[in-house]
Amino acid sequence: LVQLFRPLDLLGMVYRTIRQGVIDMAAMFDLVDTPAEVVDAPGAPPLLVSQGHVRFEAVRFGYDADRDILKGIDLDVPPGSTLAVVGPSGAGKSTLARLLYRFYDLTGGRITIDGQDIALVRQASLRAAIGIVPQDTVLFNDTIGYNIAYGREGATELEVARAADGAAIGGFIASLPEGLNTRVGERGLKLSGGEKQRVAIARTLVKDPPILILDEATSALDSRTEAEIQETLARIERGRTTIVIAHRLSTVVDADQIVVLDAGRVAERGTHAELLRKAGLYAEMWARQAQERAAALAAE
Ligand code: ADP
Ligand code: MG
Repeated sequence: LVQLFRPLDLLGMVYRTIRQGVIDMAAMFDLVDTPAEVVDAPGAPPLLVSQGHVRFEAVRFGYDADRDILKGIDLDVPPGSTLAVVGPSGAGKSTLARLLYRFYDLTGGRITIDGQDIALVRQASLRAAIGIVPQDTVLFNDTIGYNIAYGREGATELEVARAADGAAIGGFIASLPEGLNTRVGERGLKLSGGEKQRVAIARTLVKDPPILILDEATSALDSRTEAEIQETLARIERGRTTIVIAHRLSTVVDADQIVVLDAGRVAERGTHAELLRKAGLYAEMWARQAQERAAALAAE
């Protein structure tokens, strides 16, 4: 009987591993249903990233034909700079990230990287150029080393170890009896939210992409862990074109430009100081969050 059950158990494990992969992708994009397939144009050339200049030009998009989510978005993210996207929940912030990754095709306008329309290049090359740190990282039921190496096919153990150090989780891993071979996930060691985000950052460092998307990467963490992870993120943003989607405005004050998205339109744009002077939506959000921070401090 035991013998009989083995193959089934193994099959179950394989199935769960595959399913976990799908869940990971879904979590990365907050997707519930499977997105429609986008296809490579015949003979599509690979994307060639020289500088990492990202532009959205009059981008329109809706998940359903009868409801526009993005209603003409223009963004210019110069090479190596950081753009922060803020705004109410449901404004379309994550949708911007999904479109840059080309999870869907646009209904109008175009997105370019170094002048190349992303809809006309090979998807694999586009996705290799972009690293994403999502809000909740779902770990594979495998070793911590595997979870980091997953960032890029063929990553060596040395690269994995370096990435772990870069994500400030190398010391923690070294303290585990089995090191990088420690199993994690629901069938292994449970990692804290902050540790999981560090694994996600290490995964991204292994990938070493010229373009980085942080989609509320720290918003599920308590404020102390958030501050610690912010430091690490600031370091890995250097030299990469970065789009930061943030709920807590305290994490975007240093961005080169901030865009306030509201109901699928850019409501305001500027630096933190410029937007405060405008005394509009951003300034209002800032004041409200400052109040919440003060109240939280008083309650401690
Ligand atoms: P944000 O990240 O700013 O909170 P999203 O970009 O996730 O907002 O979502 C923008 C809008 O698109 C929301 O109204 C949301 O309900 C809708 N939406 C998101 N994903 C899907 C989907 N897969 N199918 C249909 N509608 C979606
Ligand atoms: Mg979102």
